[in-house]
Amino acid sequence: MLESNLEEVKKRLARAAAKRNASPGEINLVAVTKDVSREAIMEAWKLGLRDFGENRVQEAIPKIKSLPPDIRWHFIGHLQSNKVKYVLPSFQLIHSLDRGKLARALQKEGEKQDKVVHCLLQVNVGMERSKSGFHPDEVEDALIEAARYKSLKVLGLMAIAPFLPEPEELRPYFRRLFQIYKNITVPGVQMKYLSMGMSSDFEVAVEEGANVVRLGSALFGERSEK
Ligand SMILES: *Cc1c(COP(=O)(O)O)cnc(C)c1O
Repeated sequence: MLESNLEEVKKRLARAAAKRNASPGEINLVAVTKDVSREAIMEAWKLGLRDFGENRVQEAIPKIKSLPPDIRWHFIGHLQSNKVKYVLPSFQLIHSLDRGKLARALQKEGEKQDKVVHCLLQVNVGMERSKSGFHPDEVEDALIEAARYKSLKVLGLMAIAPFLPEPEELRPYFRRLFQIYKNITVPGVQMKYLSMGMSSDFEVAVEEGANVVRLGSALFGERSEK
């Protein structure tokens, strides 16, 4: 099932990319493996996937240790400051830098572990009470602050769109984030990744400028909610 799901996803990604005159190779697919077994992840690896995303530190670390070392792991969940030390050695990109306090914790731990921590700034583009992330108006200042931290490198922006039944309703949010992404001019900051789009809305996200999509259920099937 994974193989045919992946084929289908690739087709849909290519079609969405074509709509904005991008090549499929410009879109990075992160396979979200929360609640996915080690066996299913291995199957995805055998099909050529190398970017995987996890959102819970404790569940991810043992999986990561038992899987091939050429996998690039993406941390996509809310990260508590006291877990930062476990995340740094195992994950290549943190998508969820969502508050100033976390930036300071990442800087501090990065310095300690002699690492430059790569991350994306999470933006609460729907300005929802229930979601973490920087308000769109705070992005510039947050980037200026992050640029001062030598052990932290912000490579782009990430958003989780509001929950709305029709993907088309999300287009304005994706468009707004792309505008912010594209217009950033903070010295020392280069915007490389725009991580937006999940299983239910990734085509609209790609049409509006995403170059990273995070897909779980479209690849591995529906999760049983915990
Ligand atoms: C679970 C999750 C995803 C993937 O969700 P699907 O709808 O299964 O594609 C993407 N991003 C984040 C932050 C998630 O927590």
